[in-house]
Amino acid sequence: MKSVEELLSRCEQMGRCLVWKGSLNHRGQPRLADLNVRRFIFTEGGTKKMMKGFHVRNTCGDPTCLHIGHMKAESRSALISKLAKNPIVKMRKSAAMTRIVRSRPGKLDMDKARDIRNSIKSTKELMAEYGICESMVRAVQTGKQWKEPNHFAGFMR
Ligand SMILES: [Zn+2]
Repeated sequence: MKSVEELLSRCEQMGRCLVWKGSLNHRGQPRLADLNVRRFIFTEGGTKKMMKGFHVRNTCGDPTCLHIGHMKAESRSALISKLAKNPIVKMRKSAAMTRIVRSRPGKLDMDKARDIRNSIKSTKELMAEYGICESMVRAVQTGKQWKEPNHFAGFMR
């Protein structure tokens, strides 16, 4: 087992940072064999209370810095919610959601959706008839779901 001192001796003081001189993993994070050096220093040299599901993040902006004061433990859920706020991730997520929605074997098809749109029945009746929820009935009626593929589709039946 490595010691914190041994690992820190492989770092070089640069300003207020302790920069790792050893090798990096594919994400540019300090590693020694299979050891995540930052996580190790944080738990062994710090609180020793590193909980499962927590990720040790670098806070000074230099991913190779191993100064314990430049680290912060973050729960994975906090990390995920932070990522979710990132517009690119959000976009990918919604694209993935769209794919899921599209590929889902739903209770409706285009013909049924048209029937719902043309129906004079109440929302409740439609919910019961098609086994769908109220929001789905509304979504179909307003064209948010099962939208006609184009303007002419309705005339080409
Ligand atoms: Zn630093």
